[in-house]
Amino acid sequence: MLRALLGAALAFWAAAAAAWWTAAPAWGGGPLAVVATSTDLKALLEEVGGERVRVEALAPPGQDPHTIEVTPGRLAALQGAALIVRVGLDHEPWLAPALRTLRGRRVPPADLDCSRGIALLQTETARVRPERGEHVHGFGNTHYWLDPENARPITAAMVAALGRLAPENRTGFESRRAEFLKRLDAGLTRWSAALAPYRGAKVVVVHESWPYFAGRFGLQIVAAVEPTPGVPPSPAYLASLISRMKQAQVRVLIAEPYASASLVEQVATRSGARIARLAPSVGADPEARDYVGLIDLDVKRLVDAFSGR
Ligand SMILES: [Zn+2]
Repeated sequence: MLRALLGAALAFWAAAAAAWWTAAPAWGGGPLAVVATSTDLKALLEEVGGERVRVEALAPPGQDPHTIEVTPGRLAALQGAALIVRVGLDHEPWLAPALRTLRGRRVPPADLDCSRGIALLQTETARVRPERGEHVHGFGNTHYWLDPENARPITAAMVAALGRLAPENRTGFESRRAEFLKRLDAGLTRWSAALAPYRGAKVVVVHESWPYFAGRFGLQIVAAVEPTPGVPPSPAYLASLISRMKQAQVRVLIAEPYASASLVEQVATRSGARIARLAPSVGADPEARDYVGLIDLDVKRLVDAFSGR
C-alpha cells in the first residue's frame, strides 16, 4: 500500500517535472529572460537592454551578497533564463549548487562572467585561503562594480552577450549603452569633483568591498574591521585596529547596511571616526534606484561624513 502510494506520488512528480523541464524557454520572441546574480548587474542589464530584457536578480540588495539562499521563486527564474550574468570569481558560492538543481533543460542558459575583462585588485596568491570559508576574495577582490569606470567593460560584455542571443536588437543595445555612458561620464565628472577635497584621506572599511571605489577617487583604505573577508574580528584584533586608527587619524569608517550595527558603532566610538553607511548595491538604500544613483548616494554619504555633516 505504502509502496503503491509512493509509486503514484513519484509518477505524479515525474510528470510534473517533465512538464516543467520541457517548458519552452521564455525568449522565443518576447523580452529575453535574464537572471543576474546581483541588483547591480540587473540595473546595468536594464540600462542596455531596456524593454528587450526581463531581468531577475538572485541576491536581494542590502544583504551580504556572498551568503544568500536561493528561494524556489528564484530557482524558477534560473530555470527559464536564456542568460545568466554573474560577478564571478568566488563572489557567488551559492550559485553552483543552485545551478546543479536545474536539470533537463533542452538549452542550457548562456553564461556571462563579468569579471573577465576587469583589471582585478588583490589577486596576490597569499590571499587564497580556502580553508577559511568560501568567499575570501581568494581569486581577487570581487566588488569591482563599485568603480564606476568598470561599468564600461561590464556593459560592453552585456551588449555582446545580449546581442548574440537577440542579434536583431544589437543596434538598440549599443545605442542604449551609449546613452548610459553619457550619464556615467557626467557622473564621473560630478563624483570626482565632489571627492577631490578628500583625495588621500584615510578610511577604514568593515568588509573589503571598497578598494575599486577608493582607488577611483583617491581614498586610502588603511584597514578592514574583518581581518579576512567574511571573518568577524576578535577582541584582540579590534583593540589593535582601534589603536592603529587613532594613530593614523582615520576620519571615516565605511560600513555596509548589513554590517553589525553594534560592531560599527563600537569601532567608531572608540576610534573617533565618523560612520559613512554606504550602499554596496543598487536598491540597498531607497535612494540607490539605479547604477548612477548608487554612486551618487555613496559619494554624498562620504562627503557628509568627511565634512562632519
Ligand atoms: Zn566580498
